[in-house]
Amino acid sequence: MTKQIPTSAQVVIVGGGVIGCSVAYHLTKLGFTDVVLLERRTLTCGTTWHAAGLVPTLRATYNMSMLANYSASLYEQLEAETGQATGFVRNGSLTIATNKERLAEIKRGASMAKVAGFPCDVISPEQAKEMWPLLNVDDVIGAIHLPMDGMASPVDVTQALAKGARMGGAKIIENCKVLDMKIRDGKAAGVITEHGDIDAEYVVNCAGMWAREFGKKAGVNVPLHAAEHFYVVTENMPDLKHGLPTLRDMDGYCYYKEDAGKLLVGMFEPDAKPWGMNGIPEDFHFDELPEDFDHLEPYLEAAMHRIPKLMETGLQVFFNGPESFTPDDRYHLGEAPELRNYFVAAGFNSVGIQSAGGAGKMLAEWIHKGHAPRDLWDVDIRRNRPFQGTQAYLQERTTETLGLLYETHYPFKQFKT
Ligand SMILES: Cc1cc2nc3c(=O)[nH]c(=O)nc-3n(C[C@H](O)[C@H](O)[C@H](O)COP(=O)(O)OP(=O)(O)OC[C@H]3O[C@@H](n4cnc5c(N)ncnc54)[C@H](O)[C@@H]3O)c2cc1C
Repeated sequence: MTKQIPTSAQVVIVGGGVIGCSVAYHLTKLGFTDVVLLERRTLTCGTTWHAAGLVPTLRATYNMSMLANYSASLYEQLEAETGQATGFVRNGSLTIATNKERLAEIKRGASMAKVAGFPCDVISPEQAKEMWPLLNVDDVIGAIHLPMDGMASPVDVTQALAKGARMGGAKIIENCKVLDMKIRDGKAAGVITEHGDIDAEYVVNCAGMWAREFGKKAGVNVPLHAAEHFYVVTENMPDLKHGLPTLRDMDGYCYYKEDAGKLLVGMFEPDAKPWGMNGIPEDFHFDELPEDFDHLEPYLEAAMHRIPKLMETGLQVFFNGPESFTPDDRYHLGEAPELRNYFVAAGFNSVGIQSAGGAGKMLAEWIHKGHAPRDLWDVDIRRNRPFQGTQAYLQERTTETLGLLYETHYPFKQFKT
């Protein structure tokens, strides 16, 4: 059945996951009221609904850490603003090292946390064991503890952002698939949907693992691919303390999250499995992928070594869901070099919940100002382009370069929530 949709908008956002909703929320905060978000099925139905919900604040670089830290602060205050809970708690995180190289890496992270102003302690294996009593520290040589890291409910965060966006005047339309792009005079000019056309000044591709295919409709290259992503959840573990920090054992390729008396064990396998090589199925929504015990077995063994109590605990859930990954493990943000007024926020490499607040704010400011609001080169979509193209694009955008020069003198002044 055809539904009534607006025929024009200033900004059309394609995709109603956590990223699209954050972009819509932040645009309304900047005074954009004529914003339409289109979701092909239901909000969160792609990847967002099944995320583990970790919201750590520390990333590999200072800039990215500031963005992640902003997400945490935002999720903490969204309920007061919108009345929609986000489930955000600051349970902290504990990262262990079992070799010298890893210890050097996490200590470097601790130094950066201090520069960024995040509390962070380098602690001994004994202190780690005190904090996480079920942890086997026989081979642990050091750890870091970030008390302000958090976790949240991904669906609730998305709904809170969507509610905030609606309160600011945005329209969110579900069950409306965008079929194609309208392009005029070398610029994005709107979208063609299954319920009619919408003319728009700006179009934002927040289509998650569909973003590459959707990008092609405008000749925009969004290099990403879906891969299978796993976690298991145990049965009730009576000895598990409530409110434990999220535990990361990067050499065991696992993270551990206490979840209402159960333990969620997530994996980042070095030999990940790509998915959707022949395209994402048309009716994919709120779907899971088949479990693969053989693939997980080595990581489950590593988990039993790290938390020996797992040897006597049953597993209740084997979860496998797709997430989009990019060639350099960084997301794509910003105006596409191929098409003016066409923006992208996609390819979140399993840090989309952590990143959504900061990325949404940056993208909204990018549209508002007409240039990147600060140095975002880590994730700038133009980093993937041949130098020639990038240079030409930068020459064309002298205002952006001047804007960046100005803003580097006042770093991060607008990160206050
Ligand atoms: C098992 C697992 C655990 C994870 N754990 C964490 C975690 O602990 N912390 C963390 O930060 N991240 C985590 N992630 C990653 C996080 O879930 C994703 O990075 C994030 O949800 C991506 O959000 P998105 O909005 O880009 O994509 P999606 O949620 O997939 O949203 C994209 C939306 O676009 C819609 N769409 C696509 N094409 C069209 C079209 N043509 N027209 C209209 N709509 C369209 C889709 O229906 C979809 O709803 C995890 C992921 C997985 C799989």
